[in-house]
Amino acid sequence: MRIATYVQGGTRHIGVVSADGQQITPFKVAAETAQRGALALIETLASGGALPPLDATPIAVSSVRLEAPLPMPRRNLWCVGRNYHAHARELSASVFKDNDSNPEAWPIVFTKVPECVVGPHDDVRLPGAGISDQIDYEAELAVVIGKGGKNITRANALGHVFGYTIVNDVTARDVQMRHQQWDMGKSFDTFCPMGPWIVTADELDGTKTRVRCWVNGELRQDGPTDNMIFDIPTLIETISRGITLYPGDVIATGTPAGVGMGLKPPRYIKTGDVIRVEIDGIGAIENRFI
Ligand code: MG
Repeated sequence: MRIATYVQGGTRHIGVVSADGQQITPFKVAAETAQRGALALIETLASGGALPPLDATPIAVSSVRLEAPLPMPRRNLWCVGRNYHAHARELSASVFKDNDSNPEAWPIVFTKVPECVVGPHDDVRLPGAGISDQIDYEAELAVVIGKGGKNITRANALGHVFGYTIVNDVTARDVQMRHQQWDMGKSFDTFCPMGPWIVTADELDGTKTRVRCWVNGELRQDGPTDNMIFDIPTLIETISRGITLYPGDVIATGTPAGVGMGLKPPRYIKTGDVIRVEIDGIGAIENRFI
């Protein structure tokens, strides 16, 4: 099932998107439930409840404005740094040391604030000269947690996945490098395009899909998710060590090789650039940078 959050006639709704991505059928829920986006449904299912009934009449996806499926995640998004072998290699000459050659290494984990999430086709606002002029893209598969838990084992981890969506972990490289923690350089307003919907885990194996990213039509990133250094079960096991994960928590699993910083010379985002991120089995998000 593909669950989307969208605006029609000035009102937020939640709905099920058809397999071809062309139609959407709204859930019949109260306005205050729809206001919370897909999070309301994920929490209902995680607590043993049933999905609400669907409206009888599908409408065209083209007639609505898709929002992020989780327009305001319940708390900061968990994010993983340098988690593809090829991406770790491309940054190994930078200040970010290669974490791929140490078998005892742990994943790099940081967060983005929930307020930076925007929709799959919304504009991303560059913060302006003087704040950062090294804005970069990171195409990523994001895991959405269903059933919460603490100290989740690798073996049980995929049973806690509600589904998958796409994020662009937009990053200000100079700010990321300047501070010991990455959160500031990752959390500028509008720096987390998400969507176009959540595909539930029964319809997609996130461990075996493919992440691609184009900048103005030029393919920059193309990586299979089985190139991750720390796979999805390991990430869930690690992040839930002593920390309770909740329904609706998001884990952005890291980006493949081909970010702007890794090019020689580096190529950062300019006003007017359009960045498209596509993941097999989910769909695509495409955002203009202004
Ligand atoms: Mg990232």
